Amino acid sequence: MTLKIAIVGRPNVGKSTLFNRLAGKKLAIVDDQPGVTRDRRYATGRIGDIDLMLIDTAGFEYADDESLESRMRQQTEKALDEADVALFMVDARDGVLPLDKIFADLLRHRDVPVLLIANKAEGHGAQALAEEAYSLGFGEPLHLSAEHGEGMSDLYESIEKYR
Ligand code: GDP
Ligand code: MG
Repeated sequence: MTLKIAIVGRPNVGKSTLFNRLAGKKLAIVDDQPGVTRDRRYATGRIGDIDLMLIDTAGFEYADDESLESRMRQQTEKALDEADVALFMVDARDGVLPLDKIFADLLRHRDVPVLLIANKAEGHGAQALAEEAYSLGFGEPLHLSAEHGEGMSDLYESIEKYR
């Protein structure tokens, strides 16, 4: 069975970096329809022995008559519609920002299980962010470095129960 994973969160937290890592370099991006939307990218991927369909909420291009926030909201909602699990990423260096709280509110009203990920956590005292991130309402964050591939086995263990 393929587990559908939506990677969500505000810009610049490392969503695409994690997407690329899980997709692997050899796997082609599927169903990336140029001209239709650049807000979501899809790829097949794998973590351990779990087959994944990855959804990256990317870009957030928006028209003049809509706000970035409403565009992000729409695209995230659509990704969640398709997902078995959501990976909600925040930046361990920045801490929790107001925009993260907007995403948290959106995710809280959905049925999709949410895994909170504090990314960019390489070489950090994880504790500093843990309490702040806990306040988002999704439990203890999983500390990860998408760029350096740290925490991937913890991610596997957290995802495993949803397959
Ligand atoms: P997105 O906008 O959420 O898709 O974020 P990107 O994946 O484009 O990453 C934004 C920036 O954060 C890029 O410069 C990445 O190289 C950097 N980045 C992503 N993951 C990590 C990480 O684990 N550690 C650090 N230090 N930087 C990261
Ligand atoms: Mg991106």
